[in-house]
Amino acid sequence: MGLDPQGLNFESYSVPEVTDELREQTGPSYRLAISRSSGKLKIQSPTSASLQEVLEKARILGDRVVLSKADTSVLALALDLRRDGKTPVIVSDDYAVQNVAEGISIAYQPLATLGIREKFSWVYYCPACFRRYAQADLQICSVCGTKLKRKPLHKQAAKGRNANE
Ligand SMILES: [Zn+2]
Repeated sequence: MGLDPQGLNFESYSVPEVTDELREQTGPSYRLAISRSSGKLKIQSPTSASLQEVLEKARILGDRVVLSKADTSVLALALDLRRDGKTPVIVSDDYAVQNVAEGISIAYQPLATLGIREKFSWVYYCPACFRRYAQADLQICSVCGTKLKRKPLHKQAAKGRNANE
């Protein structure tokens, strides 16, 4: 869905079911290949004990019908990682996944909070007065009339966005 493990400063994991789903989409599967070869993303299958635990929890919560095989595996892998002493955070916008994650006390985070390159990659600015613009629909600086330029938006830039406003 646009998440790029290369941009994350922590270890990331996924499951074979998810990589199978991505194989048909060019953009995500390209990022996946890069991330895997650089060691940024590890693909791991969950243990069957954890799968059983997730399915049982989902059954109790009543979410079993809407959990896909991939969803179930991601949740189960999080349990395995926790058992290994890690502190996993599941990245998902899926309500059922979040609900079950809560049920097994695993943290989760919506995808948007990690940044999606395709959507948020540029900041627009005036090269004359350095005023910043969030939207791409403005072509010309509303203060001085200079044609706007754009540059990649980094985390630091996002935090300091009020500096020029
Ligand atoms: Zn300007």
